[in-house]
Amino acid sequence: MSAVSVRDVTVAFEAFRVFDGLSLDIEEGEFIVLLGPSGCGKSTLLNAIAGLLDVASGQIWIGGKNVTWEEPKDRGIAMVFQSYALYPRMSVRENMSFGLRMAKTPKPEIERRVNQAAELLQITHLLDRRPDQLSGGQRQRVAIGRALVRDAAVFLFDEPLSNLDAKLRNELRVEIKRLHARLGKTTMVYVTHDQIEAMTLADRIVVLKEQKVQQIGSPDEIYRRPANLFVAGFVGSPQMNFVKGRIEGSGAGPEFVSGKRRLSLAGYQFTDAPQPGREVVLGVRPEHLDILEAGTWPDFKVDIVEPMGADTVIWCSDGEGSIQVRTSGSKRTARGEALSVGVDPAQISLFAADSGDRL
Ligand code: ATP
Repeated sequence: MSAVSVRDVTVAFEAFRVFDGLSLDIEEGEFIVLLGPSGCGKSTLLNAIAGLLDVASGQIWIGGKNVTWEEPKDRGIAMVFQSYALYPRMSVRENMSFGLRMAKTPKPEIERRVNQAAELLQITHLLDRRPDQLSGGQRQRVAIGRALVRDAAVFLFDEPLSNLDAKLRNELRVEIKRLHARLGKTTMVYVTHDQIEAMTLADRIVVLKEQKVQQIGSPDEIYRRPANLFVAGFVGSPQMNFVKGRIEGSGAGPEFVSGKRRLSLAGYQFTDAPQPGREVVLGVRPEHLDILEAGTWPDFKVDIVEPMGADTVIWCSDGEGSIQVRTSGSKRTARGEALSVGVDPAQISLFAADSGDRL
């Protein structure tokens, strides 16, 4: 039985239809990230699961129950938003216990749950403060704590870290991952446009673009076998290199050709048999390129060197265009230097130039 089952769901804002029959099954204990650029429909999907908006057709099941027409409070979910939405005049303790007090939960039970959540989030020492006496990161911990006391089986997060600075975001990201591990069977559905959050937190990522699912898979699958050009470009930093070219057939097997650049595709696992002459885009991540004495693609020149500590990103170009190579941080090169690029054919992706789909 799935923890959350989205069945053939369509949401409509008047004439504008979002998700024409979207289906998604989320397993118990799974950490699912909904990833995509602004407007792709992440929040709409989360809100449909939460019951904050009605579906035009289809069903939402949570914990084996059809909750399509249930109120949010009756769905067995807890939600954490980007804006912490804490009550300013209440203490942290009162903020965290508010929902339970409204639900007339017995006092000792409230105390037990609040103390337990506070301990888990390391905010016990803040319980008597008001929100204005907290930092942004502490406020977001309280907001998570307020969700945690509900003892829900499913947690829904809508960009919970977007308002925090980079360092705090990294800290709380690890905290959320730890929380998920400690809670064991709690299912989490997490919305973000940040591909690093998605890669580091998710068991599975749902990549969305323009209200359509582009790919569902583990971070590894999404990174290594992107289903199309959009997914390939959206995930990974620095971005995947894209090289336009075509497939040429020969006795020795198919080859990728782009001007003077050539690459044997003998080892490439095509999902679709290649047709010679087909226009394609070759995708290769900067870390799958190498700088060699005599690489696959010679005649490059260094344009820009970006030292990043652990790595160095080298922007270089030949007569055909520019590519980025990610190499060791100790690599020393200078602008204008000549180099030769090694391509690992086992690590490339090929996409159809017209549809953008993986070949
Ligand atoms: P963001 O990261 O900017 O929050 P998102 O991926 O969460 O974006 P949604 O907020 O789910 O995107 O919006 C999906 C689409 O639905 C967008 O095109 C948006 O303009 C549209 N939309 C959302 N809410 C409404 C509404 N109440 N009325 C009309 N259209 C809406």
